[in-house]
Amino acid sequence: MSERKTQIVVVGGGAAGLGLVRKLGKRYGRDRHDIILIDRNRTHVWKPLLHEVAAGSLDPNLDEVGYGGHAARWGYRFFNAGLERIDREKRMVTTAPLLDEEGSVIIDRHEIRYDYLVLAMGGVSNDFGIEGVRENAMFLEDRKQADRFRQVLLNACLRVNQARARGETAKLPICIVGGGATGVELSAELVNSAKALRSYGLEVFDDSAIELTLLEAGPRLLPALDEKISDNVRSELTSLGVDVRTEAMVSRIEPGRVHIKGADAPLDAKMILWAAGVRGDEAVKGMSDLELNKLDQIVVKPTLQTTVDDRIFAIGDCAFCHLPGDARPIPPRAQSAQQMADCVYDNLERAQRGQSLKDFVYNDRGSLVSLSRFATIGSLMGNLVGGKMAIEGRIARAAYMSLYRMHILNVHGWFRGTAQIVVSKVNQVVRPALKLH
Ligand SMILES: Cc1cc2nc3c(=O)[nH]c(=O)nc-3n(C[C@H](O)[C@H](O)[C@H](O)COP(=O)(O)OP(=O)(O)OC[C@H]3O[C@@H](n4cnc5c(N)ncnc54)[C@H](O)[C@@H]3O)c2cc1C
Repeated sequence: MSERKTQIVVVGGGAAGLGLVRKLGKRYGRDRHDIILIDRNRTHVWKPLLHEVAAGSLDPNLDEVGYGGHAARWGYRFFNAGLERIDREKRMVTTAPLLDEEGSVIIDRHEIRYDYLVLAMGGVSNDFGIEGVRENAMFLEDRKQADRFRQVLLNACLRVNQARARGETAKLPICIVGGGATGVELSAELVNSAKALRSYGLEVFDDSAIELTLLEAGPRLLPALDEKISDNVRSELTSLGVDVRTEAMVSRIEPGRVHIKGADAPLDAKMILWAAGVRGDEAVKGMSDLELNKLDQIVVKPTLQTTVDDRIFAIGDCAFCHLPGDARPIPPRAQSAQQMADCVYDNLERAQRGQSLKDFVYNDRGSLVSLSRFATIGSLMGNLVGGKMAIEGRIARAAYMSLYRMHILNVHGWFRGTAQIVVSKVNQVVRPALKLH
């Protein structure tokens, strides 16, 4: 009888999960291990690029990774489905039936055994239970939503262009809720796209046609970053024509209207994007008896094992990790997701050898905000710069781009990753600056 393979199942091939399965596949191969990635999508687009996809300044077809091909290359198996249930006793996960666009079943409900399970399912936008948000606002959680935003944007711009060509004074009011990195970066990216549209056949269109309002409930933009960075970002956005309003708490959204607490009248907006924070997916509640925090994130120990089951790890945005001695929990960011994946990669080996697991150590490398081609602002942390250093301009842009390059190297390895970086450099030169379809 053949030896039973150690089965490591990773759910979610995003910033945390995809690099992890590549490294696990490379380390263990298929001889004595079976590494399985489960994701409800067939391709991966790095989330921090989604605002560029939404604004049309990035063609996601060039940057996405197909899980099937990636799995064949790196020695793991890919299963296309959404996670439905975790049976801790039987050490079995159940995936939901995979449906086509008409709702017919492609792949039935399925059970997959695990010896170790890593949950890396990311997060969803937090609507704070505010009335009308789910129904009337758009979100930027995955490629499908970013593509939809771009289509709605393009159609709205074409309508405005046509009305202006007839001599009317048409405008496109857009409201972005949430002054974190997503809201800030999308605002600048939309100004960039609006400026470029005239040379793409929208002959009477210019950036004055878009009226952009950015709402933040707190007293300043980018609350997680230094005040000086917030101030710089605010003045840069204001100079680009964005109406930045802080202490503007949204109380209700109805079609085309955003109600702000204490304001005399609602804000009219043809497009509303909600980017006001991250929480865990509510569906996790019904999947198992894992401990969750108030935001439905899975609570983990410093080793990144879940508090109720040592064979189950949780990493990235779906995990709630508050390390002893730290003032705040680990933030939901790409760099945290990748560092958690590295820690679990080591801990899976230690667990199989019967060794004690190491605690996760978060290394904050700083925060950078890209305001499209207009500016990059932020801070770098670490020994290299002797603590914390504010940076701007070209150095900041290079550092910002390096985060994505590290993700590419993590996902494709050094050789293929470097080739991929060169190809995307070439594409920047030969491809149009905007994707308008
Ligand atoms: C527009 C935008 C800009 C951002 N910019 C930055 C930035 O500049 N810097 C930064 O550090 N961070 C940034 N972030 C945050 C960063 O993208 C996330 O913190 C990071 O992607 C989290 O990684 P993850 O692996 O936990 O989740 P994700 O990358 O979201 O991956 C989750 C994966 O799980 C899959 N999945 C989800 N549920 C299921 C299920 N039930 N069954 C199967 N599969 C499932 C999804 O399809 C997805 O592939 C940004 C986020 C957004 C949206």
